[in-house]
Amino acid sequence: MSFPDEIEPDLPFLTSLRHNLHAHPELGFEEERTSGIVATLLEEAGLTVHRGLGKTGVVGTLQVGNGTRRIGLRADMDALAMPEKANRPYKSTIPGKMHACGHDGPPPFRFGAARRLAAKRGLSGRVHFISQPAEEGRGGAKRMVEEGLFDLFPCDAVYGLHNMPGLAIDEMAVVEGPQLASSDSWRITFRGTGTHGAKPHLGKDPITARATLLSSVQPLVGRFVDPLPAAVVSACSRQAGDPKALNVIPDTVEIGGTARAYTPEVRNQLEEEIGRLAHGTAAMFNMAVDYQFERRIPPVVNDADATARALKAATEVFGKNVLTRFPPSTAGDDFSFFGQNAPGCYVWLGNGPAVDGALHHNTAYDFNDEAIASGVAFWTTLVEQELAV
Ligand SMILES: [Zn+2]
Ligand SMILES: [Zn+2]
Repeated sequence: MSFPDEIEPDLPFLTSLRHNLHAHPELGFEEERTSGIVATLLEEAGLTVHRGLGKTGVVGTLQVGNGTRRIGLRADMDALAMPEKANRPYKSTIPGKMHACGHDGPPPFRFGAARRLAAKRGLSGRVHFISQPAEEGRGGAKRMVEEGLFDLFPCDAVYGLHNMPGLAIDEMAVVEGPQLASSDSWRITFRGTGTHGAKPHLGKDPITARATLLSSVQPLVGRFVDPLPAAVVSACSRQAGDPKALNVIPDTVEIGGTARAYTPEVRNQLEEEIGRLAHGTAAMFNMAVDYQFERRIPPVVNDADATARALKAATEVFGKNVLTRFPPSTAGDDFSFFGQNAPGCYVWLGNGPAVDGALHHNTAYDFNDEAIASGVAFWTTLVEQELAV
C-alpha cells in the first residue's frame, strides 16, 4: 500500500473529527450538527459549498482549471436509532442513537482528500463532494436527486465507498455489476370475519390464512423465482389479535416484510409472485386481501467504465490488495439513485477484523480509525486520475 507522506500530519485531526462525530450521532434528515461541520470544513478547504439540498445534504465543489470532466463523490453521515453498548472514550453521548454503520468515517477522510486536492497542481475539472443525509432507510439520496442534485451539479461519474469489516484496512473490493440488492417492502392485510375462538367455522380466520401464506412465501425463491440471480424474501412483521383476548379470532391480520433482488426482472417477479400468493391464499380462505409492494431502493449495480476507473485508483493505492471478485451484499444502499443519474461505482474499503464479532448495525460496531488514511488516499488518487490534465 502506498500512502503519500503528506496524509500523515492530517491524521490526528481527522481521527479526532471522527471521534467527535461518533460521539454525536444524528439520525436521517436530522444531521444538522454533522452537516454543519462538514460544510464548514469543506469551505475551509477552499471548496464552494451548497447547503440544505435534501434538508441536511451538503455539496462541496472543487473547480480546478477549465477541464470539462465532472465527478461526484458520495458520502453518508447519518446514524442509527439503536443504543451503543461498547465502552469507548468517544462513545455516543446521545441515548438510543449510534454510528453503527461507520458513517462517521466518510466525513473525515473526504475532508482530508478535499484539503489535499485543493492544494494540488496539474488537475483540471470539477469534483463534487456530495454528503447525503438519511442513507439508513429514510430516503436521503432520492430526496437530493428530486431536489435537483444532478441539475445543479451534473456528474460524468459518481462514486461511493462503504466500510467493510472482514477486509483488511489496506484492502478494497472494486467489482463490476451488482453490489447491493434492491430493498423493497411488502404488506398484506387479510380481511376475514372475526369470531369466537371456540367457533372458528362461523367466521373467516385470517390467522390461519397468514400461516398458509408464510409457508408459501418462504420457498418462493427457488420454486417460482430462479435462485441463481439471487433474491431474498423475509416476513418481518405481523399485527393481529390481542394477547389478552385468547378466545377471539380477529377480523384482520397484517403481515409485512422485505424483498431483495439484483435485477429489475427479479424485482418485478418478486412483486408479482408475492401478490399472487396473497390473492391465492385469500381465495383459498374466502376472504378479502389488500396487497402493497413499495419500491424503496433500486439495486446498486456498478457501471463498467466507472468501475475500471475506480479499480485503477484502488490498484495504485492498495497494489495487489484489491479484490475484483467479492460477493454482493443483500443489504441495500440508496447510492443506487445516484447511479441512475450518472455512471456509478460503489467500492468496499476494509475495516479490519470484526472486533468481538461486531458487524454493521451491531451495538458494538465501530469504524476503524486505521482506515482513514486508506480512504483519504483512495479518494485523492481517484480524483487525481479523473482530472489529470
Ligand atoms: Zn447501515
Ligand atoms: Zn452504511
